[in-house]
Amino acid sequence: MFANRRVGAGALVAVIALTTGCAVRSDGPQAPGIEEAVARIEPALLRGHLQFLSDDLLRGRGTSDVGYEIAAEYVAAQYARIGPQPIDGDSYLQPIDLLEAGEDRGSSLDVNGLRFGNREAVFTPDWTGERPEISGDGVFVGYGLPYEGRDDYGDLEVEGAVVFVLSGAPEGWVEDARRAPLTRLQAETAYRRGAAAVVQIPSSEATERAQIGFERRLAPRRPLRALVDGTAAGFRTEAQLSPAAAEQLWDAWGLTRDEAIEMSEAGSAARAVGPVILTRDREANPSRSWNVIGLLPGSDPEWAGEVVLLTAHLDHVGIGEPDEDGDAIYNGTHDNALGIAQMLATAEVLSEVAPRRSIGFIAAGAEEGGLLGSWHYVRDPILPIESTVAVINQDGGLAAAAAPDEIYAFGDDLSTDLRVALDAAAATHGLSVVSEKRPPFGPSQMLLFRSDHYSFVLAGVPAIYLMPGFSIGGNPEAGRELWLDYLARINHRQRDNYDPTWGLESPVTMAGLSARLAWQLANGDAMPHVNEDAPVQRTRHSPQLPWFLEADAR
Ligand SMILES: [Zn+2]
Repeated sequence: MFANRRVGAGALVAVIALTTGCAVRSDGPQAPGIEEAVARIEPALLRGHLQFLSDDLLRGRGTSDVGYEIAAEYVAAQYARIGPQPIDGDSYLQPIDLLEAGEDRGSSLDVNGLRFGNREAVFTPDWTGERPEISGDGVFVGYGLPYEGRDDYGDLEVEGAVVFVLSGAPEGWVEDARRAPLTRLQAETAYRRGAAAVVQIPSSEATERAQIGFERRLAPRRPLRALVDGTAAGFRTEAQLSPAAAEQLWDAWGLTRDEAIEMSEAGSAARAVGPVILTRDREANPSRSWNVIGLLPGSDPEWAGEVVLLTAHLDHVGIGEPDEDGDAIYNGTHDNALGIAQMLATAEVLSEVAPRRSIGFIAAGAEEGGLLGSWHYVRDPILPIESTVAVINQDGGLAAAAAPDEIYAFGDDLSTDLRVALDAAAATHGLSVVSEKRPPFGPSQMLLFRSDHYSFVLAGVPAIYLMPGFSIGGNPEAGRELWLDYLARINHRQRDNYDPTWGLESPVTMAGLSARLAWQLANGDAMPHVNEDAPVQRTRHSPQLPWFLEADAR
């Protein structure tokens, strides 16, 4: 059904040259229309998308499933109806070639003579078949975090070593806005220092419950995936030990679990643990998914080569075990049929104004479990990353809620330029942008790493992920309660289903804000930039590896 077509930037430049000034109304950059455009976003513009994409027919839109292909064809057909143009001939599809972890035929980890097999650890496949066996000195570094003078590595060198990190972070770090980002940097830190492999040790006890959680990981509903060159957008370890295996390791290292955690908390756990041999023998099976990309060419020939991107992932997690209601299909209505519906509504109204720069729409594939569609895109973009102005990502929301008074934007602290533009757009909608993020969304920046905008952060592009905030109708906690309920009962569960009684007021507000911000960025004089002091990639470029693996970052 989907031809294997590579999409080159050259083809797109040709599309822009052909269509600028004729496919869109050419009443010039001053064309108003944005007010009317935003006002056109009504529940009816979202509802059909949400209903169709949530249907059981789509089988939970699993990454390589026929249900996802139907969803992709649907989005392509919507682009064709609404206005965004194909990126390659008459095709909106960008293939993503993937590898998917299959059966583990006998991977093992030998730590100074103590051997763990594939029932005691989940092994990441040797994706490219280049490193089936990794051996080196073993080093335990506690949480393995560096921060303002603290360095969990002490003076241990780890070049060529197999680094063991304790999962999680010291108590209090996740509640500290400045330190929380570091909790996702354990593997990155180890690789940056030259580690040959990283093994994760669970910090939880070997309780029956923890063990069951681990068993589930052995046969996950969402298998590990990578692009064909073995890369992913971030944070990967070669193996994760079971809680029971961890207990054996503590024993061998002359520690109790509590002592190990205590020393890790204090940042004084670093020690050599003897020679390690990691042998990987797990299948990596080829599979494929697609990004669905449409482009509204800019109206100004000088600026049309620059593009503002709206992104939302189209995939969800597919089919699993039946829940207590006998429902086995993860329809993923909030996650992320909702973001797609918002993006399509945005595309529909922006097709009627004439922004100076181009605006691109990416329904990203293979987001669940690795951000792989967006990671593929930043490495093979339809317009150069250097000309990519900013990214507005939508993933989830509150379909049943009234319009919010405030919004969260993850990634807003990385680019003051983008935050200033967002503040202006939000103010027009009577919305404030939350600066002090609160649980369950903060102060930790974990959500920076949790959706497709992060792939663009890795490429040096200012990128934000928008969410309705906690204050609704003047009640500062109303939305927080809805979010807590959503996270506890619905998110990534079979019951994330469509309900036709939803008012969709909150999604309408989010779509309207996204449309206005995209329009503003597409017409604004200056390109936003990532802040000088941001702890991420600061210069736009297509990365071959996550920035922490690139030679100059080491
Ligand atoms: Zn999502």
